[in-house]
Amino acid sequence: MGKLDVAMLRYLTGEDFRVLTAVEMGMKNHEIVPGSLVASIANLRHGGVHKLMRELCKHRLLTYERGKQYDGYRLTNAGYDYLALKALTNRKVIASFGNQIGVGKESNIYTVADEDHKPLCLKLHRLGRTCFRNIKDKRDYHAHRNKASWLYLSRISATKEFAYMKALYDRGFPVPKPIDFNRHCVVMDLVHGGPLTHVTSVPDVEGLYDNLMSLIVRLGNCGVIHGDYNEFNIMIDEDGQPIVIDFPQMVSTSHPNAELYFDRDVKCIREFFKKRFGFESETWPRFSDLERDDTMDREIACSGYLRAKDVDDALLEQMGIGLAVSSDEGSDPEDEDAPREDAEDSERTREDARKYTEDELERMRREVDTSIQNDE
Ligand code: ADP
Ligand code: MG
Repeated sequence: MGKLDVAMLRYLTGEDFRVLTAVEMGMKNHEIVPGSLVASIANLRHGGVHKLMRELCKHRLLTYERGKQYDGYRLTNAGYDYLALKALTNRKVIASFGNQIGVGKESNIYTVADEDHKPLCLKLHRLGRTCFRNIKDKRDYHAHRNKASWLYLSRISATKEFAYMKALYDRGFPVPKPIDFNRHCVVMDLVHGGPLTHVTSVPDVEGLYDNLMSLIVRLGNCGVIHGDYNEFNIMIDEDGQPIVIDFPQMVSTSHPNAELYFDRDVKCIREFFKKRFGFESETWPRFSDLERDDTMDREIACSGYLRAKDVDDALLEQMGIGLAVSSDEGSDPEDEDAPREDAEDSERTREDARKYTEDELERMRREVDTSIQNDE
């Protein structure tokens, strides 16, 4: 596993950042953003946006693609990473970058450090990007919305994870301390230890079992179910204490399938303890035993308290992302490493900014300004 490619953070300019932000803004409504639109909303004093975009393509932060009706630009994973990491370094949350320490189903995990050299954990959410079709099946309501949805799925996932982790941390649950988030990236305390799945023996098996089960009950009494509570998402720290991670899928105990999710979490622990330690307990928690003493699910708008779709719609609205659907675009989003022809100012690329009124363009320019101010 490699290093995060962050050399770019050092030598790209404020103008590059503005152009990338403009492309990101354009991707609210387009999978492929016409160069003319980027030029118009990036609003650089001296122009030259097309040249900058070509350079950014060479660095693979953008790709230039041919759509059905017009050509344009698209942020790559690396481009989106760049925007988030630049913001987090500007805010002095992150001062240096280390190695990749994990790769999950839908994330990449790195060590980073703050200005005092304190090690931290950086989680980059990557949903619906490499495996767009699966996401489409699972969350079909996104598929109808926008082909750029990988960007929003990842961002929603990170936003939720940060909110859930913060609510849990504030209530004294053993979770990493959440530090900050931006776009699809979450920064949290680094757990010194490893996932339970790497642990072959523990001093007090029954004690750990009881501890993990009482955490499930404590969560349930707060109104939430982890939903993926297993030996990969439970870390054991240097003191042998469990630290729970990985929260984007958390659901409310009011969810119609809550009991099923609850029982599944419980079963994961029982089966793991049996398989790994030969330990079987006669007792385990039941959903009907829960005594609600908190409304965390409501506070953090967990799926099930609200419908999943409403949760995501609410988040999208907070992010200022409309439900615009663009059906006029689309080449294969998956081969971003394939070399592309350079963009030229053809009729096809120039065509599209005209779709917008001057008022709309002005509003987008202000949004780019605001976004850049927030990231500074
Ligand atoms: P995913 O959602 O992709 O499963 P996780 O949040 O479970 O991502 O993280 C994947 C792996 O990264 C974990 O199994 C663990 O090994 C490592 N990891 C995650 N968070 C931390 C952390 N705060 N400290 C140390 N390691 C972590
Ligand atoms: Mg995980």
